[in-house]
Amino acid sequence: MYIARPIGYNCHLSFPPGTPPMQQPIIGYHRDEDDHWVAELACGHNQHVRHDPPWQNCSWVTTSEGRAQMLGFKLECKKCDEGSPRDQQPREVR
Ligand SMILES: [Zn+2]
Repeated sequence: MYIARPIGYNCHLSFPPGTPPMQQPIIGYHRDEDDHWVAELACGHNQHVRHDPPWQNCSWVTTSEGRAQMLGFKLECKKCDEGSPRDQQPREVR
């Protein structure tokens, strides 16, 4: 069963207990052309982790410590569920 996220969710605490859809660990990050942070997932897909309150509260992504701490953390990957092709992962940032 899919449970919709409430508005203003914490993007690293967004999963209800139980078994959510496909989850993939973060293996790196880069920024897109608009300077938004993009997490690179182990499955080959990218996922935006914008810090854009109140819609998304991803303040951890704005610091290098926060990004380092979130390496290996699993995010829900809708692209896997959709069977999308892999994204480019330039992985510019540590
Ligand atoms: Zn994926």
